[in-house]
Amino acid sequence: MARKFAIRTFGCQMNEHDSERLAGLLAADGLEPTADLDDADVIVFNTCCIRQNADNKFYGHLGRLKALRAEKPDLQIAVGGCLAQKDRDLIRSRAPHVDVVFGTHNLNRAPVLLRQARASGPLVEVLDAPDPDAAPAHLASAAALREVPYAAWVTIQTGCDNSCAFCIVPAVRGPEVSRPVAEIVAEVEGLARRGVIEVTLLGQNVNSYGRDLTRRRPLFSALLSAVGDVEGISRVRFTSPHPKDLRPETIAAMAESDAVCEQLHLPLQSGSDRVLSAMRRGYTAARYLERLRAARAAIGDLAVTTDVIVGFPGETDEDFEATLEVVAEAEFDSAYTFIFSPRPGTRAADLADRFVPDAVIAERFERLRVVVERSALAHNRDRIGRAEEVVVEGPSRRDDAVLAGRTRQGKIVHFAPPDGGPGPAPGSLATARITGAAPHHLTGAFVDLVAPPRHRRRIPVAAG
Ligand code: SF4
Repeated sequence: MARKFAIRTFGCQMNEHDSERLAGLLAADGLEPTADLDDADVIVFNTCCIRQNADNKFYGHLGRLKALRAEKPDLQIAVGGCLAQKDRDLIRSRAPHVDVVFGTHNLNRAPVLLRQARASGPLVEVLDAPDPDAAPAHLASAAALREVPYAAWVTIQTGCDNSCAFCIVPAVRGPEVSRPVAEIVAEVEGLARRGVIEVTLLGQNVNSYGRDLTRRRPLFSALLSAVGDVEGISRVRFTSPHPKDLRPETIAAMAESDAVCEQLHLPLQSGSDRVLSAMRRGYTAARYLERLRAARAAIGDLAVTTDVIVGFPGETDEDFEATLEVVAEAEFDSAYTFIFSPRPGTRAADLADRFVPDAVIAERFERLRVVVERSALAHNRDRIGRAEEVVVEGPSRRDDAVLAGRTRQGKIVHFAPPDGGPGPAPGSLATARITGAAPHHLTGAFVDLVAPPRHRRRIPVAAG
């Protein structure tokens, strides 16, 4: 009987996608996936270290597995990803029941390492830089085991050449490494042949994509257009771009390609120039707003989301008021708001004498939430009465009698299926009339089916 594996993922979309690739590698090595940890012979944690609470959560999970390991001596536990890259030695000293530790640069080695550990005992293999023989081709995701068959993440680049003062990513993911355009386009063509209709291009700093390949032309805009031209792909998204690298060519490519969605996630982080400079972000609030205006002028019906950090060391009341002003002016569709979390190894972690008191952060956080929700609700109310194209995702998490779909702007629409039936299958394109709005979702009524799922069709051509 085949051994079974379970993966638990912490952190961002990049990690989610790494876990899909890891699942594909383990399945190719003869293991079967299971969602149940008690049923698994191999448990892999794909970790995150972006915030302290992610660390704590992970070590809590790991501690609970000690008893399971004692009951099942054959159980193998592996830890990979960003925290493993950072804490390579600490993990086994805190949790000696871990069999394998691997980092961000050698995820492709996980099956081999698990086999070696089974034969000869626990091992730690963490590379300090990408393996030139493996990267970036090992990022190909054709064999990834995906949760949904109609949408796919595609890694276009790993690592980051910036040095934002609060961010641990460059230390754990290394410098930027871009995959060649032709390789990415071939992968997307393979996904389209398998019935994928939506791709999200992933990178730590997507719009600087290709700087390591050539300095002659802006490659990200060319890539966006090429992916948008792939037959069968009706939606292209990307995350995350950096405001300082949002070039006119990228905005033009977004405006010109029918497939590229009217959605832009543009992390602001702060509206205070003093804080932005301390963060080493490379733009001012005015420059950010200027680029946002250019994007909105060129791309009709553009939804804009952002990230904001509250309580960066030394953030004064004045700085925070500046952030509120910029957030109000930007009128975001939504914002991921974070409380500053000091990460050892980053510049900001050394500014402990300037940390903002928790009570002040809590009050600022709440005020920011109110401003974001005001513009989010206003944008969503503007959509009432419109017929929106949605990709059906399946039953809503809150009420399985209702379907959830996502608009091109990335907004969730909850709508009742027609005639009380099950409604269109996940992966269908449908039209819903918007009837109600809340800050974080829309409600609507089913209008018609635009296209059934493509992934149901038999695809004669091998993918990838
Ligand atoms: S751009 Fe800044 S925040 Fe984003 S991954 Fe790079 S260093 Fe981190």
